Amino acid sequence: MAFATTRPRRKKRFFRRRRVCRFCADSNLKIDYKDGKTLRYFLTERGKIIPRRISDNCAKHQRQMTLAIKRARQMALLPYTITQSI
Ligand SMILES: [Zn+2]
Repeated sequence: MAFATTRPRRKKRFFRRRRVCRFCADSNLKIDYKDGKTLRYFLTERGKIIPRRISDNCAKHQRQMTLAIKRARQMALLPYTITQSI
């Protein structure tokens, strides 16, 4: 069912998602470990760091971001994990 191999439908050529690193796009945006609010954007609801392919950060900023998050965790600004029964 999931594999309808008879008809190769390829039409989504134009509708490519724009992958733009928000830190590259906006130079005012700083990656700061003290800025938990911005960093929280890159955490899942369980407190995990969102991977680059989803967050759309460039490699450089993703690296800075993970570092900032890890620092923020040590400062108890961000959680390591969120264990809540949903
Ligand atoms: Zn970037």
